[in-house]
Amino acid sequence: MKFVFDFTEGNKDLKDLLGGKGANLAEMTNLGLPVPPGFTISTEACKVYLDSGDEPAALRDEVSAHLTALEKKMGKKLGQADDPLLVSVRSGAKFSMPGMMDTVLNIGLSDKSVQGLAKQAGDDRFAWDSYRRLIQMFGKTVLGVDGELFEEALEKAKDAKKVTVDTDLDAAELKKLVTRFKKIVKAEAGRDFPQDPREQMDLAIHAVFDSWNTERAKLYRRQERIPHDLGTAVNVCSMVFGNLGPDSGTGVAFTRDPASGHQGVYGDYLQNAQGEDVVAGIRNTVPLADLERIDKKSYDQLMQIMETLETHYKDLCDIEFTIERGQLWMLQTRVGKRTAGAAFRIATQLVDQGLIDEAEALQRVNGAQLAQLMFPRFDEDAKVKQLGRGIAASPGAAVGKAVFDSYTAIKWSRSGEKVILIRRETNPDDLDGMIAAEGILTSRGGKTSHAAVVARGMGKTCVCGAEDLEVDTKRRRLTVNGHVVEEGDVVSIDGSTGKVYLGEVPVVPSPVVEYFEGRMHAGADDADELVQAVHRIMAFADGKRRLRVRANADNAEDALRARRFGAQGIGLCRTEHMFLGERRELVEHLILADTEEERENALKELLPLQKRDFVELFEAMDGLPVTVRLLDPPLHEFLPDITELSVRVALAESRKDHNENDLRLLQAVHRLHEQNPMLGLRGVRLGLVIPGLFTMQVRAIAEAAAERKEAKGDPRAEIMIPLVGTVQELEIVREEAEQVIAEVERTTGVHLKLALGTMIELPRAALTAGQLAEAAEFFSFGTNDLTQTVWGFSRDDVEASFFTAYLEKGIFGVSPFETIDKDGVGKLVRDAVAAGRATRPDLKLGVCGEHGGDPESVHFFHEVGLDYVSCSPFRIPVARLEAGRAASSSTGSDHR
Ligand code: PEP
Ligand code: MG
Repeated sequence: MKFVFDFTEGNKDLKDLLGGKGANLAEMTNLGLPVPPGFTISTEACKVYLDSGDEPAALRDEVSAHLTALEKKMGKKLGQADDPLLVSVRSGAKFSMPGMMDTVLNIGLSDKSVQGLAKQAGDDRFAWDSYRRLIQMFGKTVLGVDGELFEEALEKAKDAKKVTVDTDLDAAELKKLVTRFKKIVKAEAGRDFPQDPREQMDLAIHAVFDSWNTERAKLYRRQERIPHDLGTAVNVCSMVFGNLGPDSGTGVAFTRDPASGHQGVYGDYLQNAQGEDVVAGIRNTVPLADLERIDKKSYDQLMQIMETLETHYKDLCDIEFTIERGQLWMLQTRVGKRTAGAAFRIATQLVDQGLIDEAEALQRVNGAQLAQLMFPRFDEDAKVKQLGRGIAASPGAAVGKAVFDSYTAIKWSRSGEKVILIRRETNPDDLDGMIAAEGILTSRGGKTSHAAVVARGMGKTCVCGAEDLEVDTKRRRLTVNGHVVEEGDVVSIDGSTGKVYLGEVPVVPSPVVEYFEGRMHAGADDADELVQAVHRIMAFADGKRRLRVRANADNAEDALRARRFGAQGIGLCRTEHMFLGERRELVEHLILADTEEERENALKELLPLQKRDFVELFEAMDGLPVTVRLLDPPLHEFLPDITELSVRVALAESRKDHNENDLRLLQAVHRLHEQNPMLGLRGVRLGLVIPGLFTMQVRAIAEAAAERKEAKGDPRAEIMIPLVGTVQELEIVREEAEQVIAEVERTTGVHLKLALGTMIELPRAALTAGQLAEAAEFFSFGTNDLTQTVWGFSRDDVEASFFTAYLEKGIFGVSPFETIDKDGVGKLVRDAVAAGRATRPDLKLGVCGEHGGDPESVHFFHEVGLDYVSCSPFRIPVARLEAGRAASSSTGSDHR
């Protein structure tokens, strides 16, 4: 096996072997762009090193051979005393990762060769500056010396000379600094700074290998589900210098604006500077456009190269470059990151330029970005005072009064105040406070902290880990940069950017939602560019997708919104909501009924109410399928709280005030009390033990459908039985339902075509799907309950109790209630699809669990061959987009 590749040997598709940076350096080299010569040590070499603790036996010789070739090409030897070849060593994995080793520049400099460099460059200052940089970077990243110590020494040198920028230090001062730096290395690392250039290079290469396993990199990989065995490549590149004087410099550039997508000149340039100076913000950069004035020749060449790169990569590229005495060099390029809005714009712009087709445009955007564009946001024109910035943990814009404990959050929100709950970090005790708050702000913790996970689960705005904020919960205030925010002061937090503001920032609705709602038209003159781009991408997606998208909705209002958002029916109408509010009392009557007659009466009262619900719903969804699920939750959910009722009864007793009804109610509550209600008397079980309940619901559906038909409507109701575990349950309910439907047809004289099907939400249902399909015309996978029962996780409890720990430990990168667990729950879905279709080839298949609106899960459902996904109205555009992406991607569900 070969471990080392010259830049001329690779290409951009070899990221597995050469890492992202190496593959792109090779691609640019082959395009004939000015890339300083060099070579890449492959990820395979890193793998051997990580497995065995030592580099592969052949590596040393291979590196030597490539180094010799490089030296020949450059006409000088690494570290040669009179005219040294210098190189940079950089890590470069397939995916860029935090925690990996930073670049080490100027390898090859030593006490001797620094003199040679000075002579060759005709510039003492430059040579000593390069040497001090090498010792600093090498000391910090290779030898593990605290970088602050070097920074402090540099600051001291500047103070001594009363200057503020490092370029004002002259050669003599830099020389002194080198001596100081070497002392720091000796003291901290317990060894001298190596003078042998090859030793410098080898140590740096090993340091890159080792950095694959830093804690930060490991955690990141677990969270992002990047395999731990990929390893990193190492790039060794001949040095070019941006710090050789005013005709030199270094910069970063984008081929178009990563914020708006517009083409133009975007980037920053820093004269007389090297490497990381631009990003580090040590000195002020100038806009890239100024380079035209500074060095027209290099500027023109750079513009030309940027065009070449964009046309070649067919995408926005970001670039790092250096100019050495008027000669332009490309140091890096990659497909650049962009904002959600720019992603949509750029994708359509590239289609218009004829660079990509519609299918490719769909791969350039994703559902998470679309979701981000659908949150309300702060008015960009508002005059605001930013207090600080944390991690954008859960998107949205929230404004409210600062409160520092959950109790106050609940109390104030009950009295109608909007509050932002501010904590150092949250824990399960804060749950009620989080529910009460508009948004959550913490000063500690990352994207998987308790606050972040729970807030995302609730769809609540959250900024976490805003470390500048000093939260003092005892004194109920926070301090930031000398500014104090007391309890009751208004703050605004932006969960999409992580920014925290003082005072009320006005919130504007998302133009993308305005568009989906039909309040803004993509074709209108004033339609913004973003809306037009979203409109076109959605059309591409709808044109490509195979999956249909339905909504989970149980009232006409939601159904109408869902329709505006593009729903092609209702996949889940949960009827339990129809039994709450004023109707709860009727349910109580049903439960408390002692005689057949009492029960019949209660059902008779419920029937017209249910029927009216369905008439409205069928009308809203006229012409489209509406899946109505018969009652699912345990009955006790419709009864008063056991503790409250007990207290009420006890108090009444003590007053000798006997309330017969309360007593019976309490008995019923006790009778129906279950330790594990989610595994108890609910769903079809309820329908089988409470006579008349399901048949009443079926009658309401049938009569509503008949009424709609008589009104010349086109109702397409489907009746769904929940929590079925065996075909016998289904057969009994089915038989009763068919009788009721036949009866309604007889009495109304309307012919009804009502499909009957079941949910697959228990492992046993999935395992016996072949049998269930004999009695079901459709399946809808209830992946919420299926996840709960397959994992044995209580869906109401675990996310707040131990999921944070699981996420932090990397046991899973995302909650299985959010993204379908493909290997476990997904396997049951896949097998049930096959078994169901084997029994009944025209079996209709959908999913109505929360996963139906989750991007990654949508790809999975596409792949296993479902007919539709169903999700909450607001997530419909995301599901449409992802269904289109799934249908037009050959790589399946790899979103990275
Ligand atoms: C499910 O279990 O996935 C489902 C959709 O039903 P519910 O969430 O109402 O239990
Ligand atoms: Mg369920």
